[in-house]
Amino acid sequence: MVNLKEQIDTRRTFAIISHPDAGKTTITEQMLLLGGVVRSAGTVKGRKGNFAKSDWMEIEQKRGISVTSSVLQFDYDGKRINILDTPGHEDFSEDTYRTLMAVDSVIMVVDSAKGIEPQTRKLFEIVKERHIPIFTFFNKLDRDGRPAMDLLDELEDTLGVATYPMNWPIGSGQVLSGLFDIYHQQVEVYRPANAAGRFLPLNAAGNDLVDANPIQQTPVWEEARDEVELLQDAGNKFDEKAVLEGELTPVFFGSALAGFGLETFLQTYLKFAPAPGAKETTDDQLIEPDQTDFSGFVFKIQANMNPNHRDRIAFVRVVSGEFERGMDVTLKRTGKKIRLSNVTQFMADSRENVENAVPGDIIGVYDTGNFQIGDTIYQGKKMIEFKELPTFTPELFMHVRAKNVLKQKSFHKGVTQLVQEGTIQMYTAWDSGDYILGAVGQLQFEVFQFRMANEYNSEVILEPMGSKIARWVNEDDLDPKMASSRNLLVRDRAENPVFLFENMFAERWFNDKYPDVQLEQKL
Ligand code: GDP
Repeated sequence: MVNLKEQIDTRRTFAIISHPDAGKTTITEQMLLLGGVVRSAGTVKGRKGNFAKSDWMEIEQKRGISVTSSVLQFDYDGKRINILDTPGHEDFSEDTYRTLMAVDSVIMVVDSAKGIEPQTRKLFEIVKERHIPIFTFFNKLDRDGRPAMDLLDELEDTLGVATYPMNWPIGSGQVLSGLFDIYHQQVEVYRPANAAGRFLPLNAAGNDLVDANPIQQTPVWEEARDEVELLQDAGNKFDEKAVLEGELTPVFFGSALAGFGLETFLQTYLKFAPAPGAKETTDDQLIEPDQTDFSGFVFKIQANMNPNHRDRIAFVRVVSGEFERGMDVTLKRTGKKIRLSNVTQFMADSRENVENAVPGDIIGVYDTGNFQIGDTIYQGKKMIEFKELPTFTPELFMHVRAKNVLKQKSFHKGVTQLVQEGTIQMYTAWDSGDYILGAVGQLQFEVFQFRMANEYNSEVILEPMGSKIARWVNEDDLDPKMASSRNLLVRDRAENPVFLFENMFAERWFNDKYPDVQLEQKL
């Protein structure tokens, strides 16, 4: 037995979201370096190859440490950190969204030359909907970037969130001199001659150094100082409650590659990022993390990385109590008892099997087909069922069929399993019963096609239908005659009717024509 309360307090479970090339891998690696998991920094990878490969697998290959593709756990500064991987691809997949259901906070990495990229908005909506605290890191300060004020404005305008700069750049690119570390009342010097000169204390007003220093002669000093004063006068005030509710994002600047500003970022982040909290059940109870009985939920199911093993891993976020290897739990959906003996855990720097896990931790349960995404497992007599994970409205659709009509059996098996894993969503055309796949991002189709061929020996033909607006309707309001070529009628996996509108005009036209029919959208 561990001291549960104490252990929970040390946990910090988060995801890093970013656009490809913004620097997520580099930051992750720097964190591992700070945590003593790897010994030297360096670029860990070349170009991204296989889509199925996680960024972390490349770290693993290069470093020879045990990083699974999905969770990275290590200790730093008295905290046990769990980083959950979110694939950084052009288009986010549902996997990314669901991962956000299993974290307590999020770090958003932005390339300071590029600013906020449009796809980030959708991710942000989900983060906001869940009131997850979000911390922003503007990366690549060692390159010429956009003015810091512009970046802040853009963040506020695009994502509709208040910002509070925890530090402020003194120049960037060629003339990068340092950071005003507003939160710690110091200046962090870029590339100081010696480590002792790295941090210089600020005066009580927080707008100048206590002792004169050559950094004050740099061409960018005055400007940075004026901006800091402006922010002090006219900027948002730091408000921890607003941070915890996801209303205010603390903003940091730095360079992951140069390891500049990263240590202070991580320390400050760990200070304000919340420890694991309570989770709501379907009967509106709150399950507190320190309650004795173990409970958790499945947020992701992944095919085994080892192609020789066809089993899958169900990723379970521990919500309450202590997990111990070999314990018996109940799977709520089926009422079945399951013994959790074949379970992996994710310590980055240790190969020994960790035998227990506490709230905030992720365990990987080997699965032979028992689990579905969103499943609750619990210990003890008192039934627990966590609120359903949200379904995300797919935006892209394709017709799908088996290339070889004689191989229907493997086709159906593959489709059923991959849909159950949450790789992709499936619909059937109302009349013909044809299969239609729906996805949030294009990548999901590619993964689906690849896995069908590789794991189920079933080549599939995908015919793009383009983007559609999916809207659920109540079956009682429905007359199949309402369907047309501009609003296809389909059923979702639970047999609920859904219209796929060609575009927003088609939806508007429908609304005008059938004002009494409620159209509902998911997240
Ligand atoms: P990811 O796709 O978000 O994981 O981004 P990576 O961490 O792979 O970084 C993409 C590229 O940007 C790599 O070539 C990195 O070396 C580079 N990079 C990352 N951080 C920085 C930085 O702070 N400054 C500079 N100049 N390059 C960086």
